[in-house]
Amino acid sequence: MSPQQMCESFDVVIVGGGVIGSSIAYFLTASSDFTGRVLVVEKDPRYVACSTTLSVGGIRQQFSTAENIRMSMFSAEFLRNVDEHLGVDDHGVDVSFVEAGYLFLATEKGWSTLQSNHRRQRDLGADVALLSLKQLTHRFPWLHVDDLAGGSLGLSGEGWIDPHALLHGFRRKAEQLGAKYVHDEVIGIDRAASKINSVRLAGGQRVACHALVNAAGPHATEIASMVGVDLPVRPRKRQVFVIACREPLPHCPMVIDPTGLYFRPEGEHYVCGIAPPTDEDPDTLDDTVDTDLFEQRLWPMLAHRAEAFASSRCINAWAGHYAVNTFDQNAILGFHPDVENLALANGFSGHGLQQSPAVGRAISELITFGEYRSLDLSRLSFDRFARNRPIRERNVV
Ligand SMILES: Cc1cc2nc3c(=O)[nH]c(=O)nc-3n(C[C@H](O)[C@H](O)[C@H](O)COP(=O)(O)OP(=O)(O)OC[C@H]3O[C@@H](n4cnc5c(N)ncnc54)[C@H](O)[C@@H]3O)c2cc1C
Repeated sequence: MSPQQMCESFDVVIVGGGVIGSSIAYFLTASSDFTGRVLVVEKDPRYVACSTTLSVGGIRQQFSTAENIRMSMFSAEFLRNVDEHLGVDDHGVDVSFVEAGYLFLATEKGWSTLQSNHRRQRDLGADVALLSLKQLTHRFPWLHVDDLAGGSLGLSGEGWIDPHALLHGFRRKAEQLGAKYVHDEVIGIDRAASKINSVRLAGGQRVACHALVNAAGPHATEIASMVGVDLPVRPRKRQVFVIACREPLPHCPMVIDPTGLYFRPEGEHYVCGIAPPTDEDPDTLDDTVDTDLFEQRLWPMLAHRAEAFASSRCINAWAGHYAVNTFDQNAILGFHPDVENLALANGFSGHGLQQSPAVGRAISELITFGEYRSLDLSRLSFDRFARNRPIRERNVV
């Protein structure tokens, strides 16, 4: 018999109180149809190492799959009215949503893909516009366009937010509505046949649950393996550099260069980064910053796209981790087919912050009603691996 004490019982235990776990906790406790008790177990309550607080806060609708476009459209609406949803008493939530848009740039080679993504986004109601070189130069005179064929700009509902503020907004509201957060680490899960009965915590407690949600971000695979589930989710390092640039770039959106480089304003400075090539992107939780990446790769690319960056300098940098779904770089959502009370909210591959409101709503519907009610996300279930049906997202940044 285990020496651990069975202490309490909860209807739903959520492993991980980052933006995804906290959004699920919020949507469950805010629903009048859900009457259960919710526990969120978070091992890092200051959120020093989680993906959410290390992200660059981008919000966009310019995806290639219908589910991602629709999730982000809901999120944009949610963020515009965030005070209504997450305000506590007289205290609002300032997520600092800067709706400056995403600008995806394409060379001749990528232009037809950009156009077909654009048609799909427009068909689903996203407020995006294709811009010719002339239009690009008119709007953004600082942009070097000679090697481009055009761009796609989000006119509304896109930009960036303060990730800390959204996470703490979800958490504060969920706690006010009755969710309990505990500072501890899930170190084991007890499963009998196809059901999870309880989780074991590093602090010595055993907590019984009716449903368990895996919202452990880059650690999702460790949690899944505790019940014998193999998730194709791996932690991959992503670095962010803060740069000072003497000349401002007026109306600068989040620019996504055809090379994979991105940059956007952050107050009076800029942030930028790039995903490494696939063969230089190992599974790792290492978080050291490689300053050569900025000096040798990013800086020349930045200076090529906007001359003002030629005299920029890096003033800060950090590294965080994407939870990459190596199968198709899309979220894995819903109950596991063999562990019937294990709900997955994993593998966001760099777009989980912006999907968090839609994911919170979706998982809370699944737990409460046994089905999606607002937006059908069943194509993103774990089943697609066994059926070998990838849902490839072409716009991964
Ligand atoms: C550099 C960078 C830039 C990004 N930019 C964007 C962007 O522009 N837009 C966007 O939408 N997304 C972006 N992302 C991705 C986004 O940050 C993530 O998809 C999102 O934050 C995932 O949230 P999460 O709650 O699943 O994970 P996390 O925020 O990592 O939260 C998981 C939590 O689980 C806890 N945990 C793990 N294991 C245990 C355990 N055993 N017991 C208890 N607690 C545990 C961790 O401590 C952590 O707090 C970026 C990510 C990075 C790294």
